[in-house]
Amino acid sequence: METTALLIDGEWATGSGEPFESVNPADGSVNRLIAAASPADVDRAVAAAAVAQPAWHALRPDQRAAVLRRIGDLLETHGEELARRQMRENGKLLGECRAQAAGATAAFRYFAGICDTMVSEVAPHRGDYLSMVVYEPYGVVAAITPWNSPLTLESQKVSAALAAGNAVVLKTSEVTPTIGLELGRLALEAGLPAGVLNVLTGPGGDTGAALVEHPRVRMISFTGGTATGRAIGRSAGERMVPFALELGGKSPHAVFADADLDRAVTGVANGIFTSSGQSCIAGSRLFVERSQYDEFVGRLVEHTSRLRVGPPDRPESQIAPLSSASHRDRVEAFVDEAVAQGAKVLSGGARAHDPELADGAYYLPTVLADLPRNARIVREEVFGPVLCVFPFDDEADLIAQANDTDFGLACGIWTRDYQRAYRVGRAVEAGTVWINTYKQISVAMPFGGFKASGVGREKGLYGIRTYQAAKSIYWGM
Ligand code: NAD
Repeated sequence: METTALLIDGEWATGSGEPFESVNPADGSVNRLIAAASPADVDRAVAAAAVAQPAWHALRPDQRAAVLRRIGDLLETHGEELARRQMRENGKLLGECRAQAAGATAAFRYFAGICDTMVSEVAPHRGDYLSMVVYEPYGVVAAITPWNSPLTLESQKVSAALAAGNAVVLKTSEVTPTIGLELGRLALEAGLPAGVLNVLTGPGGDTGAALVEHPRVRMISFTGGTATGRAIGRSAGERMVPFALELGGKSPHAVFADADLDRAVTGVANGIFTSSGQSCIAGSRLFVERSQYDEFVGRLVEHTSRLRVGPPDRPESQIAPLSSASHRDRVEAFVDEAVAQGAKVLSGGARAHDPELADGAYYLPTVLADLPRNARIVREEVFGPVLCVFPFDDEADLIAQANDTDFGLACGIWTRDYQRAYRVGRAVEAGTVWINTYKQISVAMPFGGFKASGVGREKGLYGIRTYQAAKSIYWGM
């Protein structure tokens, strides 16, 4: 089986590490062999980026924007093929992968627009000098991504970092290694100069760590688990390298008694079960006002038990496999441990029963109640289709329970009382709050976490500043 190559300085290069397999989680088949970048490959990629960056930054912003727009156009042309590629690597429903391919195009167009229109700031006149703020690129940005949404996350990081005038070395996830390589191929086709985007595949502890620790990397943009984020933050802090960390979550979803319960059932179920719960913003803890608890949870369980589990490319499937058999085993172990601690399984709690799905990494959408507050499944990110349900008494009780977590990524609130929605939305420690909706995402809105869910923001106007350093200039008059 042919092994993939690395993209270094506009050329396809053989990786000098040990190749590894990319596996389709829907049926366990091997997609292809993937090259692993050694520290020497990392060094060549960073050196190429450092050489290419000044000329890229020296282009006029409208020239950089034109290249970014062409990349967006090519991503659109190849959207279906990219969506299917992502589906084969992480097992997500084809419909979700298509939406993410569209998001990839949108990110390049959005940051092309910002690149083209962004202006610097002149401060109010303060006497005999004039002062202004300009924004400089850092130089070489290391971008490291997870497997759950490579199309979206890799495009988001690369488009914003390039728009800001940086060069990028992207290290993709071992589970979804090739989306980034395709992005690199399309970027070259769109006219991005050699070395401005380099793409490496390889294991996190080897290739990823070598990239993070490389002395010529000037900024690190990481999306992934909180434990990895902490390790990267420690290493970057040691060398005073700025970083943005988009990490895990344990997001609360609150349903007040006055909510439109039909809409809330669908919103809560989609909030946890889309992508089989493998989403940083999954609403994995549900709080229901006590007076409607039995009614709402009953409806939710009925809805959940009707969700159709099946192969990701079948239009009727609503729940696809998890990203790998080992990840499915991890989710299963979380649930089994909770049950042993007294949790009640209201729905799911097992692998898919259908013999046709036996070779895939399927796990049924699961609803659990009567959970001890300190159970691991309540406190840690499961990253699977598992919802933990609790009653609450009033607004204060809800806020206390919602904030009783190390994480702070997102929150959902269902109520018809908009004043209450606003109060709760402000009181919850979360980077994104949805009111009477969930998981709506716009590239124009900043995204990031409170507490252990991360540091910094991506997307929106804040998103480009993440990849720039402010510089103050004073002019004597
Ligand atoms: P992960 O932390 O295991 O890996 C993420 C990336 O980091 C991979 O490319 C991996 O190879 C690399 N890596 C691992 N160890 C490294 C090291 N020591 N140095 C450098 N790189 C290293 O995460 P994952 O399992 O791929 O992804 C799932 C996690 O990502 C979940 O926790 C999820 O919540 C989080 N996530 C967060 C967001 C967000 O925007 N907040 C979005 C998507 C996913």
